[in-house]
Amino acid sequence: YLRVARRVEDLSGSSIFRINTKAQALASKGRDILRLDAGEPDFNTPAPIINAARKALDEGYTRYTPIDGLPELKNAIRYKLKRDNNLYYDEDEVMHTCGAKQALFNAFMTLLNPSDEIVIPTPNWGTYPSIATIAWARIIYAPTFQKDGFILQPEVLEECLSQRTRVVVLNTPTNPTGQVYSREALSALGNVLLKYPDVFVLSDDIYEHLIFTGEPYANILNVCPSLKNRTVLINGVSKAYAMTGWRVGFAAGPAPLIAEMKKFQGQSTSHTAAVSQKAAEAAFNGNLDDVHAMVQAFAERAALVSEGLAKIDAIDCLPARGSFYCLPNFQRVIDSLDDVGDDQQLGDWLLDELGIAMVPGSAFNAPGHMRLSFAADKETLAKAVERLQKAFG
Ligand code: PLP
Repeated sequence: YLRVARRVEDLSGSSIFRINTKAQALASKGRDILRLDAGEPDFNTPAPIINAARKALDEGYTRYTPIDGLPELKNAIRYKLKRDNNLYYDEDEVMHTCGAKQALFNAFMTLLNPSDEIVIPTPNWGTYPSIATIAWARIIYAPTFQKDGFILQPEVLEECLSQRTRVVVLNTPTNPTGQVYSREALSALGNVLLKYPDVFVLSDDIYEHLIFTGEPYANILNVCPSLKNRTVLINGVSKAYAMTGWRVGFAAGPAPLIAEMKKFQGQSTSHTAAVSQKAAEAAFNGNLDDVHAMVQAFAERAALVSEGLAKIDAIDCLPARGSFYCLPNFQRVIDSLDDVGDDQQLGDWLLDELGIAMVPGSAFNAPGHMRLSFAADKETLAKAVERLQKAFG
């Protein structure tokens, strides 16, 4: 009796959600499940940010705000872009959004007509193709390979571009590979993009602060400033400040695009909660001490995982350089197990047999791999590595 619209019918169900649900069900039955499937930091939002939100509630920040955000939040976003990214944006070039996800949604829906092409490097976060599907855009996947450190090569990008391309997505540090684009790699991509003046670049910087290489963060505009009039930066507070539930992100880009994205948001969610906006303002205006403490913890966990996995011949893993994920190749493990034929089945097998929850790589266009999240404490990670070593070492 329910005839759903095609744009919804076309969306695939999330295997992240499936593994989350199964892990939870097993844990509630008393199984010792090691959760390496989380897509959010396991830290609490820093106290100064929570205090700012409390104060905001007492001061009556409980009403509608402008669609693009409270002026003080927009100023904090502009301050953050200057301080962290050395990029200057005017008031009409930034807007807040309900999480980075809505910034992406606003941008895709504003830029893509049905059949327009969008280039998405793989392995990729599953939401990019999902939103492109809702927009009825044509998705062109640009493969990256472990031998290249999962970094998009300029000749591969060039092959994917055509007169029909409207948007290219870049995401560094990358979910799910945990890799970080160097300035040189970005510059090589920028040189290709300069030849395609109708293409918009969507730079998803949400994991910006979570880098363990010691090198400063760079996005495409830091190396190719002349792309600024056709680049939209997307970022937010979710990952760096452990604020996933507050739902605050932002977009920064050319004023005409931001004005159109504002129209789109104005007719959907309007804006995120006023109190969340005040919390994000405090996050962007505050110092980065709490962020650095979290990064230090993530870096130690990344090392623990990569050293542990390196001892298992059947698992091939590029050490994470950023984010809180790595993407080990489990193909040899899959081949060695009689009752497992692919990474989806391996996801269930690892849960059932070893009590380890990881998201199957095919959720990210990385079949044969598993996404291992180290948004889990060291004890959990050490236990997981030990179980894997025992089973496959
Ligand atoms: N971009 C990437 C690459 C992500 O992995 C995520 C969350 O998982 C987001 C954006 C969305 O972040 P937010 O919680 O701000 O919507």
